[in-house]
Amino acid sequence: MLARQGRVDASLSDAREARSGGQADDEHDPEGPTMAATWSQLTGLHDDLEVELTEIDHALSRIEAGTYGVCVNCGKPIGVARLRARPYAELCIDCAKAVESH
Ligand SMILES: [Zn+2]
Repeated sequence: MLARQGRVDASLSDAREARSGGQADDEHDPEGPTMAATWSQLTGLHDDLEVELTEIDHALSRIEAGTYGVCVNCGKPIGVARLRARPYAELCIDCAKAVESH
């Protein structure tokens, strides 16, 4: 996970360098639109990873507190199948559905 994040950060700084380097003649650069697409793709991926890492962090503190696998909303156990699919789930399937439908 952390290695994956490191690779994304490396790609991001590459993209930043390429971006600031070619900024002056962006409009005449045929690579311009491609770079913009890569840029937004990378920053999007980075955001996802940050969220994922935060959720894993929370899951780890719940393991320490002994509340891992218990729904933070209703206090019922989160199903094993759900935890397998989403190990850092904070809500049981019922509460997750309720939140998503809002
Ligand atoms: Zn629940």
